[in-house]
Amino acid sequence: MKKYINPIGFFAFILIIGLTTACNEEPKKANGTKTEIVNEPFQKRSVPRFDRDSAYAFVAKQVSFGPRVPNTEAHRKCKEWLSGKLKEFGAEVIEQDFQAEAYTGEMLNGTNIIGQFNPHRKKRVLLGAHWDSRHIADKDDERVDEPIDGADDGASGVGALLEIARQLGKNGIDIGVDIIFFDAEDLGKDNRDPNDKTDYTNTWCLGSQHWGKNLHRPGYTAQYGILLDMVGAKNARFAQEELSMKINPTLVNKIWTMAGQMNQGKYFVNALGPGVTDDHYFVTTLAKIPMIDIINLPEGNKTFGHYHHTHDDNIDLIDPNTLNAAGQVVLAVLYNENNQTF
Ligand SMILES: [Zn+2]
Repeated sequence: MKKYINPIGFFAFILIIGLTTACNEEPKKANGTKTEIVNEPFQKRSVPRFDRDSAYAFVAKQVSFGPRVPNTEAHRKCKEWLSGKLKEFGAEVIEQDFQAEAYTGEMLNGTNIIGQFNPHRKKRVLLGAHWDSRHIADKDDERVDEPIDGADDGASGVGALLEIARQLGKNGIDIGVDIIFFDAEDLGKDNRDPNDKTDYTNTWCLGSQHWGKNLHRPGYTAQYGILLDMVGAKNARFAQEELSMKINPTLVNKIWTMAGQMNQGKYFVNALGPGVTDDHYFVTTLAKIPMIDIINLPEGNKTFGHYHHTHDDNIDLIDPNTLNAAGQVVLAVLYNENNQTF
């Protein structure tokens, strides 16, 4: 992803989303028929313990395939592994294949991987991360044209969500949860030429753009979404990302308050961070599901960590404690949502 440049009208747009989602309580119609509403009782459940070592192993496994750049063998193998894992943990999996043209002109064969828990429940939460890695190391001094491991930028969010999926499968939950691994997030054009005023926003997040226009189920919606991106680096700092604060400040405040109560305030700092163009922007604007982003935004002039889009974004950067902070807090949000349904 890249730093977000605020387009005119985004504030007004978010207001409209707020109004439509507020009136969205009626069952959705899909192909003329009402979506099944399951009235099985909810159980009060305790929050499972997120296993940081398991999450770390999921990150290391993705990195072991090599850079997950669309149209490569590593990408194909990783896709099979991710789908298999979600199925193993009890999710109903949809592989949404798509083609999209990158800014380079290359036609990319992408796949969004969607793992659904309790697909017929009306009350749903959407979780997301991107599973591709950047095709170039354009912020590095060497091997600039080679793809990066993307241990943090991509694999960390997916690893944390796989561990969450494993816990959902093992412990059960009554609300609906959808875990989407978006593809082709990181193949965009990072324009650092001050004379080039072209807006390259739409060259990023090709998978979530496709999904937002082609939902995996007609009429699909969720109460809200949480995106995890760069949630594994040692001493990460999850500042409150600017767009997320415009999209759903109530949710951001709720999550950061919970994190503080869970002694994770070292990571979830109560400070405003810069806005970023990430999958949450397209989920919010295209699918009209208000989604926020948990993302490492270090203090200082630069938006992202020193390793961002360089070969330093490798497994040595990853700290299981950071994965644990993000994963345990998101698990608590899910079970809190479940237990509020009484
Ligand atoms: Zn990136």
